[in-house]
Amino acid sequence: MPSVPPVPEPEPGYRTRKEDEPAGAAPAAPVVGVLALQGDVGEHLGALAGAGARPVRVRRPDELDAVDGLVIPGGESTTMWKLALIFDLMDPLRKRISAGLPVFGSCAGMIMLADRLLDGMAGQETLRGIDMTVRRNAFGRQVDSFESDIPLAGIASPPDPPFRAVFIRAPWVEETGGQVEIIGREPATGRIVAVRQGPLLATSFHPELTGDTRVHRLFVDMVRNRT
Ligand code: GLN
Repeated sequence: MPSVPPVPEPEPGYRTRKEDEPAGAAPAAPVVGVLALQGDVGEHLGALAGAGARPVRVRRPDELDAVDGLVIPGGESTTMWKLALIFDLMDPLRKRISAGLPVFGSCAGMIMLADRLLDGMAGQETLRGIDMTVRRNAFGRQVDSFESDIPLAGIASPPDPPFRAVFIRAPWVEETGGQVEIIGREPATGRIVAVRQGPLLATSFHPELTGDTRVHRLFVDMVRNRT
């Protein structure tokens, strides 16, 4: 076992409702974890604080127990999978996902939430949760990284401006089951790049890198509606 990193202090920049605050005031900030094994954890912590959540890092099962929702960041899904095994997080994560924990996965996080994976590393496992087939590095075979304006149902559709999305060796969704709502497609390719299934949300791109908090705000609302 690797040595366990220290428990981080809560991130600044959030507010919680005080006990004596009147009803009807801004609702209490839900505690949203970011799986902090590997990847762009800090960017998600910042975006979640900007979206009204109380963000915390999650590396251990007891830290997972304490969150109302979880973000799985962009990074490298093969590394995240191996570290989740080493840190004994695969089973606890799967159990909480099956019990209805709201989870948002961006890029590598989308891969982690896929029920079925194409072009994974030999033996690569996912956490599962969304009834979809995801092809890893699918856009990356064409061009390593690019940006594109994506209309997203409900949060970035006309008359609102589209979402400026950053793709980095990104997966796409090849097939979805009947329960899966398709939220966005990349216009040039028509590929599915944003989906939702109940409390689970996934994007091929990285909304944490752009300063546009609309996707994080949608997710924080999903967490609030579950708590
Ligand atoms: N290609 C990466 C993977 O397989 C995902 C890339 C990313 O998260 N930017 O996990």
